[in-house]
Amino acid sequence: MARVLPLRPLFYLLKRVSIHIRKLQDDITYDLAIVGGGLAGLALSIQTVKSGYKVILFEKEQYPFHRVCGEYISLESWDFLQSLGVNLRSLDVSAIKRLCVSDIHGKSFEQKLPLGGFGISRYKLDHVLAQIAKQAGVIIHESTRVNDIHFSNGHFSIESTNGNYTSKVVTGSFGKRSNLDVKWKRPFIVAKKNKLNNYIGVKYHIRYDFPNDLIALHNFKKGYCGISKVEGNQYCLCYLTTANNLQNSNNDIRRMEQNILCANPHLKKIFGNCEMLWQEPVTISQISFDKKTLVEDHVLMIGDAAGMITPLCGNGMSMAMHASKIAAEEILKFLEGTISREMMEKHYMSKWNKLFADRLMTGRILQRLFDSQWLTTLMIRLGRAFPSIIRTLIKRTHGKPF
Ligand SMILES: Cc1cc2nc3c(=O)[nH]c(=O)nc-3n(C[C@H](O)[C@H](O)[C@H](O)COP(=O)(O)OP(=O)(O)OC[C@H]3O[C@@H](n4cnc5c(N)ncnc54)[C@H](O)[C@@H]3O)c2cc1C
Repeated sequence: MARVLPLRPLFYLLKRVSIHIRKLQDDITYDLAIVGGGLAGLALSIQTVKSGYKVILFEKEQYPFHRVCGEYISLESWDFLQSLGVNLRSLDVSAIKRLCVSDIHGKSFEQKLPLGGFGISRYKLDHVLAQIAKQAGVIIHESTRVNDIHFSNGHFSIESTNGNYTSKVVTGSFGKRSNLDVKWKRPFIVAKKNKLNNYIGVKYHIRYDFPNDLIALHNFKKGYCGISKVEGNQYCLCYLTTANNLQNSNNDIRRMEQNILCANPHLKKIFGNCEMLWQEPVTISQISFDKKTLVEDHVLMIGDAAGMITPLCGNGMSMAMHASKIAAEEILKFLEGTISREMMEKHYMSKWNKLFADRLMTGRILQRLFDSQWLTTLMIRLGRAFPSIIRTLIKRTHGKPF
């Protein structure tokens, strides 16, 4: 006869073991703690752990998961991703070589992209990176939100929903807007609502008859919607618009799409004929393109947490990964003891500004321009007549392979 296991002692034992493990974790001082496991955080974790340091990463969601992003990555990141161990060719990414832009009336121009890019879902890419990080030895706490970070006597203490941790260096790669931004009252959070800080983003995965190598950016009143291919015969349909547009549509996304987006004939055709692969889209709100601080109480900010380029530039992901590379260079020098904390912060800020400040500024100008219907129409006319102007603009918002 089968023996019935005494459940209560077993439960008690498991509880003791888990308390013991937590206590052990509390006693470890990590070299680097990373808050937020998007592209910036995951890429940084892999680079640092490969140099032999103890790295812990906190991510409030559980991989794999969908997030709002147009999922077009500039080719400048190709070599870097491969160097992290991502075998891009085996992931069925799509090669994107052409750009089409249309104004609200559907008038458009098309041209070759100077460098080009590829399409892959964040669901897949972030998951692959998280697996590589785990295999390399990064301790990843998923479904764990960091609630606060304190710096004192050369060490950080990190309060998370999964216990408290200590670390020598902390980076904030917690994206566009997080509970920590609100807690720390970062300037872009307390800023009054303006033209650059109250956007919403919406994303779907769809099936649709559309060229594999094309990314299209279709304008509508106070917004634009991109479409391009990702892996597995799916397309990413993602748009950015003002919170006002949604409020004026009774906070009803479908109504906004019908009344505002579909005024552009290209979008009407896409929304009318595509197969939506999800019941509901993924959405985010309160997106801000205002300037952000690069270091907050000795926490180095990377990716969108340091500053967000407007999505129409299609370069936020590459910037997030490139920032992880310059952060890793400085953090490693600090951990090796060759530079002080002050120098690490100073070098990081100076490299960041040199690489990204101009791109962000051009992105903000373009965003304002695309907010105006007549200026967008003018741009499209200019783009048709003088393709070199568009190429120059694209180059000003992109970097070189790193
Ligand atoms: C509408 C739209 C379209 C876009 N399209 C493109 C595009 O086509 N190409 C492109 O290159 N870029 C695009 N971008 C920009 C791109 O998505 C971002 O630049 C990029 O995701 C930044 O990566 P990140 O690692 O900084 O942040 P994220 O990828 O946002 O990662 C941040 C992570 O931190 C986690 N987190 C937050 N707070 C906490 C906390 N307290 N504790 C633990 N975890 C936390 C979040 O869950 C999240 O996983 C687009 C952006 C928008 C809004």
